[in-house]
Amino acid sequence: MVGMSLLRRTLLGVLLLVGCDATSAQTPGHTEAKLPNGIRVTLLGTASGPRVHVGLAGTSTLVEAGSERLLFDAGRGFMQNLVKAGFPMTAATKLFLTHLHSDHVVDIPDLLLTPWSAAPERKVPLEVWGPDGTRKMMSHLVEAFAFDIHVRRDVDESFSPDGIKVVAQDIRPGKVFERNGVTVTAFPVTHGLVEPSYGYRVDYGGHSVAISGDTSPSDNLVAACKGVDVLIHEAIDLDLLRQLVPNRQRRDAIVARHTTPEQAAGVFKKVSPRLAVFSHSPGTPAIVEQTKRFYSGRVEMGRDLMVIDIGDEVRFRSANAESRPQ
Ligand SMILES: [Zn+2]
Ligand SMILES: [Zn+2]
Repeated sequence: MVGMSLLRRTLLGVLLLVGCDATSAQTPGHTEAKLPNGIRVTLLGTASGPRVHVGLAGTSTLVEAGSERLLFDAGRGFMQNLVKAGFPMTAATKLFLTHLHSDHVVDIPDLLLTPWSAAPERKVPLEVWGPDGTRKMMSHLVEAFAFDIHVRRDVDESFSPDGIKVVAQDIRPGKVFERNGVTVTAFPVTHGLVEPSYGYRVDYGGHSVAISGDTSPSDNLVAACKGVDVLIHEAIDLDLLRQLVPNRQRRDAIVARHTTPEQAAGVFKKVSPRLAVFSHSPGTPAIVEQTKRFYSGRVEMGRDLMVIDIGDEVRFRSANAESRPQ
């Protein structure tokens, strides 16, 4: 009887493993062959602003380069899309924050706690880089969830003490990460009174991708990103904004700290990326249409779960992508 039950358990284990492989084989992201010296970008969330957009995740971008997986911002619901894209929950252990506006950080608690407390558990610390205030915010988050951390680590489930550690740093402009041939460079951008705010550029194997963060047209971004393979940039839709924010003064303040399609075209002309992709925008067709009036290069609207491969060629696909409401 003992033998049978062991056999049954073993068979069940094998079936579960096969089941996992079969599921992940159909999904984009980590299961696809790695590009030699290339970079793969998965847009985990592309929605704009703090407002809830049903079916869309808040701003978050995963960059895979060599053996590194780097996450940029942690908007609402990005963990759902991480798993939907075929990654294990533990895939993201290195988080870079562009700035501390809530729509960029609101799901850090999910990233901190969930992969640590659900199999397969994270057993390494969560590393976080971000502007001044990042360290403080992270230590407050650990404090806010002290009960759950204590019970799961010390009393009940014995989850990894290392896995719930946070190593956070407040960065300065320049190279902030250099491991296994991958470098991340932070550059200050202009986001109204929200200072400091950063954009990031990732370089690996002669290829590169940059993420603007929230910014109005930024000379720093242009200087740091000239000739980058892929530029992921924010944008606003002025017509939509007029409908959503009738108050002229409030609207002008929003416009002043973001980038219009026409302004984005000006930035793209100076940076000259092989592909420009909008993310953290309302996703309306007008944004790409208006940009194309002033810019003749390749430009695409980013969608949740869009995968961009950067190698000798720059290709993107939208497997599993949700269709965006127009
Ligand atoms: Zn934002
Ligand atoms: Zn912002």
